[in-house]
Amino acid sequence: MIEEEWEPTEADLREPSTPEGNQSLVDLNRLCNYPFYSVMLDWNGDVMLCVQDWNKKVKMGNIASDSLFDVWRSSGLRKHRNVLKKGKRVLLPCSECNTNGILHGGNHVKRWMDYNI
Ligand code: SF4
Repeated sequence: MIEEEWEPTEADLREPSTPEGNQSLVDLNRLCNYPFYSVMLDWNGDVMLCVQDWNKKVKMGNIASDSLFDVWRSSGLRKHRNVLKKGKRVLLPCSECNTNGILHGGNHVKRWMDYNI
């Protein structure tokens, strides 16, 4: 029954809308809201900057030794937020990322800016 539930459907197997190798160019002057509302927790406890960091280039901590709350407020994450809110994708992995980045999280950015963090 579980297998039936999770068996991929034809829709799951369809071609991606943007085929690999045909991605849009990276725009280094572009806002991104991801680190204002999310991080990526990996299987081994690593807290990565972003779910879009497919090659896992930027690790912010590990919950085996760091509290998730401390990582969330860490200088590393603040550094990324500070450049991204200015529309600068200058730090890895953002400097290699063409994700839209502003579909969600606009309110989170405003709240972080209210607190001047
Ligand atoms: S620019 Fe890309 S890698 Fe950087 S935080 Fe946004 S989505 Fe993640």
